[in-house]
Amino acid sequence: MAKMKAVVYHGKANDYTLDTIDKPKILKDTDAIVKITTTTICGTDLHISHGHVDYMTEDIVLGHEGVGIVEEVGSGVSNFKKGDRVIISCVTSCGKCEYCKRGLYAHCKDGGWILGHKINGTQAEYVRIPHADNSLYALPKGLPEEKAVMLSDILPTGYEIGVKYGKISPSQTVAIVGSGPIGIAALMTAQFYSPSKIIMVDLDDKRLDKAVKIFGATHKVNSKNQEEAIKKIFEITDGKGVDVALEAVGFPATFDLCQRIINPGGHVSVLGVHGKPVQFNLNELWIKNITLSTGLVCTFTIPELLQGVVDGKIKADSLSNKEHRSFKLSKICDKDNAWDVFSNAAKHDALKVIVTNDIS
Ligand SMILES: [Zn+2]
Ligand SMILES: [Zn+2]
Repeated sequence: MAKMKAVVYHGKANDYTLDTIDKPKILKDTDAIVKITTTTICGTDLHISHGHVDYMTEDIVLGHEGVGIVEEVGSGVSNFKKGDRVIISCVTSCGKCEYCKRGLYAHCKDGGWILGHKINGTQAEYVRIPHADNSLYALPKGLPEEKAVMLSDILPTGYEIGVKYGKISPSQTVAIVGSGPIGIAALMTAQFYSPSKIIMVDLDDKRLDKAVKIFGATHKVNSKNQEEAIKKIFEITDGKGVDVALEAVGFPATFDLCQRIINPGGHVSVLGVHGKPVQFNLNELWIKNITLSTGLVCTFTIPELLQGVVDGKIKADSLSNKEHRSFKLSKICDKDNAWDVFSNAAKHDALKVIVTNDIS
């Protein structure tokens, strides 16, 4: 049996290591085996590694984002062949079931978010991609992989669950709570719709400065003191609160902030991965005509976002710092390497980390 290296999570908090395991094989004729060339780590992987995500299979390869080269396809795959360079969608979808027919790929009856969750994921030399025709996207020639890998998850998540579900429209006021990669992806794509104010909210001043200087936020608010932060957001919005509040962290406190700053008729959209119930102030909100949306990304916007990245309208490379683009798979779990840096993102002033396969 051919072997490979992969980041394996062993089912307990902080128990993940770079192991030698069996190389994946085609199991169904709709599968493809992809040799990973570039992968990255997601906030969701952190939630898993901390033991916060239910229904994790024990001993699973982490990761649901990646770019690679098709190594082998099953007989039922018609869109891709060996040697094609591809972007892997974080969500696997058959394209045929009732949910897929409605565009709800996240809830595909034979897929959804399974990579690095229910089946082995992308922080490996090779990965098996079920329903390859619908779950892979051709990588345009010449597009650098550190840009392309942002299309697996974070750009579509920011855009679909934040901007589209939040129904951001011109001249509105928007608050984005959480200035990590997902919050920044929402900030970048929100600007397609020309909101009048985008207020970035975070605990980390360095991340807030970046959001304003590099990514186009108009205001920043540090939420170390929640009450002060809420007061400040009302000041910025002339006492009205915001039209759209995007929750991009996944904690009860950040959800609470969003529900308290939303103005009548507004939209609260939840992008964060929540591991605990929250207090939902329906007694105050029932009368405010607000809409609350939640969701797992479906990645149906990958084609349009990909075009935006190719055209340079979306600066996908700015989602990682230059010094965090040259991590190697063979050292991914080492000290001061990709997992360590991403787990301590504030200390390292890190956004996404880019990891290349230096093994195969
Ligand atoms: Zn992710
Ligand atoms: Zn389906």
